[in-house]
Amino acid sequence: MAVTERIQNGKGPSGTVSPHVAPEIVRAHSTVRCADGRLRQSRYLDYAATAPALRAAADAALELLPYYGSIHRGAGVESAASTAAYEAARAAVATFVGATDDQVVVFVRNTTEALNLLAHCLPAGARVLSTPGEHHANMLPWRRRAVDLLPFTTSADELLTHSAAALARGGYDLFAISGASNVTGEILPIGELAELAHHYGAEICVDAAQLAPHVPIDMDALGIDHLALSGHKLYAPFGVGVLVARGERLAPAEPLLHGGGAVARVLDDRVVWCDAPARFEAGTPNVFGAIALGAACDALSTYGMSLLAAEELTLGALLRERLAAVPGLRLLEQWRGDDVPRVALASFHVPSIEAGELARRLAEEHAISVRAGAFCAHPLVRHLRGVTRANAPGGGAVRASLGLGSGIEDVDVLADALGSLIGPRAGRERRSRPARLAAPIAGLLGAR
Ligand code: PMP
Repeated sequence: MAVTERIQNGKGPSGTVSPHVAPEIVRAHSTVRCADGRLRQSRYLDYAATAPALRAAADAALELLPYYGSIHRGAGVESAASTAAYEAARAAVATFVGATDDQVVVFVRNTTEALNLLAHCLPAGARVLSTPGEHHANMLPWRRRAVDLLPFTTSADELLTHSAAALARGGYDLFAISGASNVTGEILPIGELAELAHHYGAEICVDAAQLAPHVPIDMDALGIDHLALSGHKLYAPFGVGVLVARGERLAPAEPLLHGGGAVARVLDDRVVWCDAPARFEAGTPNVFGAIALGAACDALSTYGMSLLAAEELTLGALLRERLAAVPGLRLLEQWRGDDVPRVALASFHVPSIEAGELARRLAEEHAISVRAGAFCAHPLVRHLRGVTRANAPGGGAVRASLGLGSGIEDVDVLADALGSLIGPRAGRERRSRPARLAAPIAGLLGAR
């Protein structure tokens, strides 16, 4: 039974009644007829790509639907209700990520757009430092600027050492990192990296696409200047994302999109732009996306992100432990060790079966949905697969990722399925010891 299900039923992990009720997700328990003709329950293990909706997110959107009108424009009750809900959602996101008063929440489509917008807002000649393990969304926008990459590292300490050395050489305006890797799940020591960046005069931008749905974030306490996330990974799959950025970074920047909503006045020969966030939200925005995201943030906060993180870190440790025990399966990891904090995802490859083929067989023979490929992080996957020739096509991998509503049974079914697909010995190795307890949540992100 899923950890979250037990809690929904009023039982905590130890069987005690819990005051917390996990937010409900909208997910049909469908059964799939597999290649052997048997019906199996479908298992969705692709949260890192797109998570199911929270009931609260879906309800919030449906609640507004009868009153829905244009925001910031109309005079009637529909416009007033929509505008109020949209701005309340902005405030909910700001609270969820611990933004300060001088940080602005801009609604965009997704993390990719958020990071492109921030790159666009950097002044000409800005220099960026980043890591080679980033998702393309946190890599390609910086390539339009002057960007230097740190080397690949084998531990968080090594990352801190390399970061300090590079930042000390000076001249960087921005340090762009991910909060958690979408390939390995490794969680970066954001607080310490932010302190280093600030010490050497750079701002820090965190791609929180994989972090925000699973770990509490406090931008103020961690010293994060800019942050990007996607609603569809945060249980609000309604086509929205946010850039939370320092107001002074946004204030002088030209809007990315020119049009209505972003302007205070249009004269014959010039335009007076609004201040952010309106400056960067030209056109009619995705009201339902924003409202759903705000509701998801509120629901997750009510449950408690620390509790959620503790559950998921434990489940993630179990996932890795079970996968590591499958003979012939190789986990992809940058940083070694059981005590590396990771969100609940694992990528792996099997030398005898091509990744796409393995994912297809998991779906067709076991009703398990995972992702195969290089996860929009080609340099990192090439590195982890040991492809050393520059620009050679990298081998792919398979990724299983978990979230609210995932449980021990999902992990067991996946490991057993992989065991049977890879070889006859594998299926016998069931979990013999409990997963390691998660590291304490406080200090997980390196807050000082
Ligand atoms: N960054 C990371 C770490 C991601 O995992 C993803 C999505 N896989 C993105 C950025 C891009 O997110 P989106 O496709 O929603 O723009």
